Amino acid sequence: MRICRIAIGDTVSFAILDHLDDSGQIGSDSIVVPIQGHPFAELEPVGTALPAHEVKLLAPILPSKIVCIGKNYLDHAVEMNSELPQEPLIFLKPNTSVIGPEETILLPRQSNLVHHEAELAIVIGRFCKDVPIERVPEVILGYTCANDVTARDLQRTDGQWTRAKGFDTFCPLGPWIETDLNTNSLAITSYVGSELRQSGNTKDMIFNVAQIVSFVSECMTLLPGDILLTGTPAGVGPLVPGDQVDVEIEGIGNLVNYVSAGE
Ligand code: MG
Repeated sequence: MRICRIAIGDTVSFAILDHLDDSGQIGSDSIVVPIQGHPFAELEPVGTALPAHEVKLLAPILPSKIVCIGKNYLDHAVEMNSELPQEPLIFLKPNTSVIGPEETILLPRQSNLVHHEAELAIVIGRFCKDVPIERVPEVILGYTCANDVTARDLQRTDGQWTRAKGFDTFCPLGPWIETDLNTNSLAITSYVGSELRQSGNTKDMIFNVAQIVSFVSECMTLLPGDILLTGTPAGVGPLVPGDQVDVEIEGIGNLVNYVSAGE
């Protein structure tokens, strides 16, 4: 099942998205059915189905926090000249960095080198702490695409990553949450314009989804809607004003964002 967040005029709601076209995109037959309240309990449809192409898709969730894993693909650690982590390397992005599909990444004045990082995002479905690996499926609502946008120059000079990862618009999420997904082997790609930049597979993660959720939950309580980013494969590269950047994950969909110079 696909859960999205939609705006109809000034009204925002979660909704179930159905009947995608053969390529997994929203087509003329696609519909959204709004649900009551939030998606963390039994879903209760309200109102009537609407043509999906007539509503605006928002970021599919507004998390209380975004916990990210660094250097979780061997080939990306190599391209960064990094040693492999012995345990998951975690950092935070602020929730104010979230934007939705088709929104614009703003390049900040403080940086001269901003990179895209295509990542599988885990969406937490319930309040949890100290989750054993075998119980991780119980606490996951689903998965979406993310772009861990990074000011690479500031990441190198600052010595820690808060500023480099934390600018407004630096966490595009979407286009929706897929609740039924086996993440063991999914193609993950990014394009800038028509240029293929990243082409990886989740099977090459150093720490898998269950290990990541269990590890992070030993450190901090996770709340419904929290996002965990699982790291990026090799091929990260620069974004410049006028670019379109696509993050596509097999079984989920295609997250499209645009790039502009910030104010
Ligand atoms: Mg990353």
